[in-house]
Amino acid sequence: MIRCPDCEYEWAEILATIMTAVGADGIDYADIDDRNVEPHWNDQSFCRCPECGYEGVVADFISRDSPWYGH
Ligand SMILES: [Zn+2]
Repeated sequence: MIRCPDCEYEWAEILATIMTAVGADGIDYADIDDRNVEPHWNDQSFCRCPECGYEGVVADFISRDSPWYGH
């Protein structure tokens, strides 16, 4: 479960990274599609509440008994 520690809103925005292909011409934007966009983040990734604007890290937003904690 993810929840804002301030207003308890149950959505959050996580700053995640993706792998992408880069060649001589720069980033291949055509390579970025549903098949390979797998955002990577961890419990220290920046996290923000879209409702109240609270900013912190993912660990601030998730409860440790969540089944997907640590993923
Ligand atoms: Zn909030």
